[in-house]
Amino acid sequence: MHFDVIVIGSGAGGGTLAHRLAPSGKRILILERGDYVPREAENWSTRAVNVEGRYQTREVWRSGDGTALHPHTNYGVGGNTKFYGAALFRLREEDFRELRHHGGISPAWPVSYSDLEPYYTEAEHLYQVHGERGEDPTEPPASAGYRFPAVSHEPRIQQLSDDWGRAGCKPFHVPLGVMLDESDRRRSRCIRCATCDGHPCLVSGKSDAQVVCVDPALEHPNVTLLTGAYVSRLETSASGREITRVLVERNGARETYTADIVVVSAGAINSAALLLRSASDRHPGGLANGSGVVGRHYMGHINSVLMALSRCPNPTVFQKTLALNDFYFGSKEWPYPMGHISFVGKLDGVTLSAGAPKLAPGWTLDLMGKHSLDFWLTSEDLPDPESRVTLDRDGGIVLTYRPNNGEGHQRLTRRLEGLMQQQSRCAVHGHECHQGLFSRNLFIGQQIPLAGVAHQNGTVRFGTDPTTSALDVNCRAHQVDNLYVVDGSFFPSSGAVNPALTIMANALRVGDRILERLGARRQVAAELTVGAGA
Ligand SMILES: Cc1cc2nc3c(=O)[nH]c(=O)nc-3n(C[C@H](O)[C@H](O)[C@H](O)COP(=O)(O)OP(=O)(O)OC[C@H]3O[C@@H](n4cnc5c(N)ncnc54)[C@H](O)[C@@H]3O)c2cc1C
Ligand code: SF4
Repeated sequence: MHFDVIVIGSGAGGGTLAHRLAPSGKRILILERGDYVPREAENWSTRAVNVEGRYQTREVWRSGDGTALHPHTNYGVGGNTKFYGAALFRLREEDFRELRHHGGISPAWPVSYSDLEPYYTEAEHLYQVHGERGEDPTEPPASAGYRFPAVSHEPRIQQLSDDWGRAGCKPFHVPLGVMLDESDRRRSRCIRCATCDGHPCLVSGKSDAQVVCVDPALEHPNVTLLTGAYVSRLETSASGREITRVLVERNGARETYTADIVVVSAGAINSAALLLRSASDRHPGGLANGSGVVGRHYMGHINSVLMALSRCPNPTVFQKTLALNDFYFGSKEWPYPMGHISFVGKLDGVTLSAGAPKLAPGWTLDLMGKHSLDFWLTSEDLPDPESRVTLDRDGGIVLTYRPNNGEGHQRLTRRLEGLMQQQSRCAVHGHECHQGLFSRNLFIGQQIPLAGVAHQNGTVRFGTDPTTSALDVNCRAHQVDNLYVVDGSFFPSSGAVNPALTIMANALRVGDRILERLGARRQVAAELTVGAGA
């Protein structure tokens, strides 16, 4: 069957792109290897999701030394956005330029922040981001405000925010893609529950790519979605200049599809693997890999979860509302970037039992979960050609990673420790609790291991030079005219904020280039204008 565009993968990149292309009337096929995530009570069970890994792929990869790797990633309609925490950040303006880190250089992007800015605004509106401009000292300029107010802090988090403010910092509200209406909780789609980050949303209140993009795109009769459709290989014409066949394994059978344009959006690791798997006489090192960069420069962020325990409980339900970027670019004493401090969803004893920290003396896991503030620290992972995706003899994924830039991350951790020591007295439990908070704080550091590929990016980088990049500035392959890659792969550097909004914004940008190529840009622009006014 022939289509105008085939989109491989339906996550932040593919789902958003399909939504952009849908009103064009062009025949669009979305090929998604997973199925819809079932709506069931287990969506919100920490045991089912975090301990049993109910929705995670069972695929086994290998790490560079050959050991089995069970990747924490999800295959389904909406991709990993079904499970994300929906913290939707713009990269900082400086992230698009070359930045010197303690561990090396973060390279410049071939586009500037201002090139992406209009699409960031569009993506924020599309994904219904709730936020507050002007609080975050590193926030880049924006052409429009958020359409929805920031999600409020619960009392314990507000107390921490006030403490950090008194300590001279500038804490801010995390921009969040949850459909929460705090002025009308009865009608609000999002009910502000404790199981958002890492879980699918049972009531479709999270702005994920399935709910926001794929489902609306499928209302257009010209858009088709095939689930359970694993794309195994892309084949080209004899010249190697265009893709002529997309090979799919579905329901135990092999199928072939063709399209004028093929967009790979399988996530940074799977997209690189697909291109490598599609090697041919014309592309011996992998499809579109004349530069040799496909699969290289894998980045995943340097992340840690740090639990700050106090004798005072933390009854917060929805914890991921507060963040701190004061150390993002460094400090007076340390002139190198350190990163970003925010929260994970509230941990509980059940979640802690899965690969958990050692018990703090005198505490049970359950008690720890009830008393912890659960921080998520992110530092920039620098691109290293030796951190890479390759294939084993059977075509399986091998992920090799060389840790880097650790000093900035350690200093960020120490900064957090310092700030926690300065907290004010707890108003609820008086002096005794205040003592506990300061004198009995315990920090359990746990840097996210290699299997934690949630923030994967960088493996099919874009650039102006075909000898050092696989994609041009519009994310079209330098060597294959009708091939685009639109997911986290294109990042030349990773910044230190969560990646999804940048992937979405870029998908809208590349979508416009594809619409121009199809001669359909004006028509879609007109429909979007009508839609916005409605
Ligand atoms: C628990 C968790 C929490 C997160 N929290 C945040 C957050 O708060 N903020 C944020 O910005 N980011 C967050 N992320 C990261 C975010 O989800 C990803 O950055 C984003 O989804 C990546 O988009 P993508 O398009 O590159 O890939 P994905 O969204 O992973 O989509 C890739 C799609 O391709 C499909 N696919 C793969 N291979 C094939 C194939 N061969 N054939 C057909 N289909 C294929 C997959 O099934 C998948 O649907 C989180 C991720 C996780 C796992
Ligand atoms: S109801 Fe709200 S907080 Fe709960 S999972 Fe859904 S979007 Fe997240």
